[in-house]
Amino acid sequence: MSDQARTAAGDERREEPLKEVDLLVVGIGELATPEGRLPRAGGAMGQLSTRRDVAVACDGGRFVAIGDEAQIAARFRGRERIDAGGGLAIPGLVDAHTHPVFLGTREGEFEQRVGGLSYVEIAAAGGGIRSSLEGVRASTEQLLVEVLMPRLDRFLKLGTTTIEAKTGYGLTVADELKGLDVIAAANQVHAVELVPTCLGGHDVPPEFKGRPGDWIEVVCAELWPAAAAKASFADVFTESHVFGLDASRRLMESAREQGLGIRMHVDQLTSLGGAELAAELGASSADHLEHVSEHGIAALAERGVQPVLCPLVPLYLGEAQEAPARRMIEAGCAPALSTDFNPGSCYCMSLFEVMSWAALRYGMSAAEALTGTTLNAACSLGLGGELGSVEVGKRADLVLTDLPNHSHLTYELGRNPVQRVIKSGAVVQ
Ligand SMILES: [Zn+2]
Repeated sequence: MSDQARTAAGDERREEPLKEVDLLVVGIGELATPEGRLPRAGGAMGQLSTRRDVAVACDGGRFVAIGDEAQIAARFRGRERIDAGGGLAIPGLVDAHTHPVFLGTREGEFEQRVGGLSYVEIAAAGGGIRSSLEGVRASTEQLLVEVLMPRLDRFLKLGTTTIEAKTGYGLTVADELKGLDVIAAANQVHAVELVPTCLGGHDVPPEFKGRPGDWIEVVCAELWPAAAAKASFADVFTESHVFGLDASRRLMESAREQGLGIRMHVDQLTSLGGAELAAELGASSADHLEHVSEHGIAALAERGVQPVLCPLVPLYLGEAQEAPARRMIEAGCAPALSTDFNPGSCYCMSLFEVMSWAALRYGMSAAEALTGTTLNAACSLGLGGELGSVEVGKRADLVLTDLPNHSHLTYELGRNPVQRVIKSGAVVQ
């Protein structure tokens, strides 16, 4: 009798043969993940599943088994097998608010700002969003893809496996559509998954200075209908110096008629009532919210509109006012946390940094911060059934870190703890 036959005979009564899977991840010291397919609101935001000494089997791009390492090893053999080295594993991070399609950086404005000028003063002097228009308009799709790729590499190194990616630095119909084509091209070839948003309401383009209504009509009549085939969402910057409440309502209702989802930059610089409008429209997300009113918070909670908070932005802009994240959680909202990566108001791609600052400035627990950068972020993108947690059946997006436990997610500042990144069951970093 051969060894193989003897083993098979000996195992006959108690073991099925090992099932072969694409990838087996062993040696996970702690697996920390929110659970479910819906946004976790209020007190549920801080409830994580945490398990020690876990292994994870992935096949066909999805998690097929998660459990005690010895049990998983007895059931599965991985065509590829990696050892997490005893560290913390978390779901692939999801950044629900980024502006990654631009050509040049704006470090000069940063120097001006730390020297005392405000974001609005710099914008009024021709800086800000408009200074990024020139670069995008003058660039080919290919060049913009080339500059986007290393940014996506950096997101991936930092454990971010999915980003919501906005246009908004073109602000002509053709240049906004070019931005969406750049996002689609990158999505084809890069491991980071991009969810495209057309930010045609980022600003009034200089050609339409003094007549914003004409730009709004162009967006509604031409941009949204063309963008609907290329984007998941439309977005607007609702502020009195850009698009007020009526203009924003017109833009968003028109986008919805074209089948686009709605995300909105609201109550970032002033308390205009943007949150109430986002609630009235049933937006997928209301983003920023540093100046949201109590009434606005109640409206978001009542309609189940998810706040997307960007704790690095006031820090970066030198603004004192924070989004009242704790009030939102108490009111029953399910906030997501994002970088708002962009060349002007936050040149940072690290959701680990975001988690630490959400703890330090909002008073979020590490568990809440992880839910905000995984499941709640995925849900705000309509992807909660697919992404945002480590559960059987979901797409296998997993980040292996060298952190000893999930409390270190917020405790450690300024270091990238990512060791390996798995996207849809493939080891990509
Ligand atoms: Zn933004």
